[in-house]
Amino acid sequence: MDEKNGKCPHCGGGNIVVGVRVDQTADAGRIGLAYKTKFVLGGTEPFYADVCDDCGTITRIYVKETGKNWYRK
Ligand SMILES: [Zn+2]
Repeated sequence: MDEKNGKCPHCGGGNIVVGVRVDQTADAGRIGLAYKTKFVLGGTEPFYADVCDDCGTITRIYVKETGKNWYRK
């Protein structure tokens, strides 16, 4: 088995699908981590997820771009 993909912590299966884009079904904007830019609006960095295709557990959630000026309260 591919070591990098790992195993599902829930069901122990190795059928992990990596790098799935996290999208929303509605059209009311985007879900992601907000970061500041030199522009007023800033940006949103989309999530990606690794998901177990056997039981549906999300084993990891992450963004691909790091080092941004993340918006925090
Ligand atoms: Zn699983």
